[in-house]
Amino acid sequence: MQPTDVLRQYWGYPAFRPAQEQIIQSVLDGKDTLALLPTGGGKSLCYQVPALCQEGLCIVVSPLIALMKDQVANLRNRGIAAAAVFSGLHRREIDIIFENACNGAYKLLYLSPERLQTEIVQARLPRMNVSLLAVDEAHCISQWGYDFRPPYLQIADIRRLVPKTPIIALTATATPDVVKDIQEKLAFRANNVFQQSFARENLSYSVLYEHNKRDKLLDILKKVPGTGVVYARSRGETKELAHFLQKHRISADFYHAGLPAAERSAKQDAWMEGKIRIMVSTNAFGMGIDKSNVRVVAHLHLPESPEAYFQEAGRGGRDGQKAYAVLLYAPADADSLRFAVNSSFPPFEVLRQVYQALGSYTQLAVGAGQGESFDFDLAQFCSTYKLEQSTTHTALKLLEQEGWIALHEAVATATRIHLSASREVLYDYQIRNKQADKVTKVLLRAYPGVNLDLTEVSEYTLAKYAGMEISSLQQVLQTAHNAEILQYFPASDKPQLVFLRPRTTSENLTIDQERFNARKARAISRMEAIISYAETRRCRSKQLLQYFGEKDGAACGICDVCTGRNKSDFSDEQFEAYEIKLKQVLLHEALPLAEVLSAFSSKRHELVAQVIDYLLDEGKLQMDETGKLFF
Ligand code: ADP
Repeated sequence: MQPTDVLRQYWGYPAFRPAQEQIIQSVLDGKDTLALLPTGGGKSLCYQVPALCQEGLCIVVSPLIALMKDQVANLRNRGIAAAAVFSGLHRREIDIIFENACNGAYKLLYLSPERLQTEIVQARLPRMNVSLLAVDEAHCISQWGYDFRPPYLQIADIRRLVPKTPIIALTATATPDVVKDIQEKLAFRANNVFQQSFARENLSYSVLYEHNKRDKLLDILKKVPGTGVVYARSRGETKELAHFLQKHRISADFYHAGLPAAERSAKQDAWMEGKIRIMVSTNAFGMGIDKSNVRVVAHLHLPESPEAYFQEAGRGGRDGQKAYAVLLYAPADADSLRFAVNSSFPPFEVLRQVYQALGSYTQLAVGAGQGESFDFDLAQFCSTYKLEQSTTHTALKLLEQEGWIALHEAVATATRIHLSASREVLYDYQIRNKQADKVTKVLLRAYPGVNLDLTEVSEYTLAKYAGMEISSLQQVLQTAHNAEILQYFPASDKPQLVFLRPRTTSENLTIDQERFNARKARAISRMEAIISYAETRRCRSKQLLQYFGEKDGAACGICDVCTGRNKSDFSDEQFEAYEIKLKQVLLHEALPLAEVLSAFSSKRHELVAQVIDYLLDEGKLQMDETGKLFF
């Protein structure tokens, strides 16, 4: 089938966006392809459509389980066979999915990266007819990126198992050195990047210096109608702020990763459907959320990097209508961020201690545990082993970056059942077990496909129809599972901890010190870049574009800096007067900023600095490598 036919038949969209068309063609030509598209740019179709145009299976590596599950549900709704394998599924269930994949049952199979190195993948992959390898969030493969995940490095090994299969890598944020790194680490046969400008023409960025952030926020939300997201630093703060907004009659709720999965998805749905206007959240909110009419994204604290800011702010205005990205900033924020980033690299001793506690928590013997996953509750873990929560969290993150473990956010999986016994065996079992008889009959009535395949069921519904308590229902199901009458995989919504390497003693725990230091240096330079974004009065959009390697971007005309010129502290005449004076000062030689300013009285310095920023922005004034200014 042709790509446009696939697009129309399965998605009902009339045409591709220009970048999609080129990317899809490149993939269908069998070329390794890196697609850099902004969030909401339509990355998923870039591998889903080729998957459907060709024979065989597309394997998709994606780190975000919730997103992966959404995608699979979406594809199935469109009549496309897809499945996902991630930590937290039972071994037997994973086995079934892989067997199905070998038998050609799916067009797309999603895998979380830490599944890649498991034997089962290594053994089965060559038996699958893999037509395409898609790597979502591809920046995770780069140590220099802001979200390095060591298991991504295994993708190159996977390529060796299916040497003829092309690869498509996708990401929304990558600096030029990360773009290069992605292609190297994924063993691209030839460099091949499709990149769309990072400019967001309808998104107005601003940075507001505010000590009283709450009142300012209220002000903004009263002025800008429509849906919004407010990013706060801590879980506690999300709750407080939401209450504050409610008190001022703004429809708001809060969201963070510590809430039970069911509650999180209920809140998310209410916001998606417009029943709640403002979601106050930690950065856990928004991953993969596809809501087009977000009018305002406000940050009450500095994110850790321009990448994170660009992604979060970029959730505004996906429908192309005007939207606002506002950073409320107080100069003390820079120091709190510096402190936070520095303490996210704790001393090695702390890593040892946390690793040791993990060993006791999981009760794994030394040498065991590779690939095993465990329900993991951070708060409970910390209280059991008397550890401080935020330090422990950062230590776990570092153990993850060093490839010892992987951590996954809580994901709600429904209970799944497959009534797999033959009719005779089942009949025999029913006769012997009255309770099981009742349950299996209800099961078949309520879920007619349950004897064909794993089916998501509601234990609540089953218990109600069977006239039982949920706990007795669970017991009956577990007993039937043990008797191999059915396969029963109970619901879970716990975060997962996966051991990527066999457990070692804490003395044998090692980290690569050089790499650790390099990573820290990178994190610090990203952090300084976002601080400079907040503190430099130059076109906001241009600053972000430059960070992502677009050197010749034009001033956006709609950020606080660009619009500030018109309604700024001085008139056009004044502006010109300053410009003329500057030209005189710089007539004979280039000078550093401090010297230029010293030609003006000190109470004018701020205004003069603004004029200089504008002139630099417009390209009228230039700065050489040593920081000297010249016309
Ligand atoms: P990304 O992964 O780049 O953030 P998605 O793949 O989730 O973006 O796509 C964002 C939205 O745009 C989705 O709702 C998707 O269905 C829609 N979309 C993608 N391509 C097209 C197209 N060619 N025409 C219309 N809608 C599209």
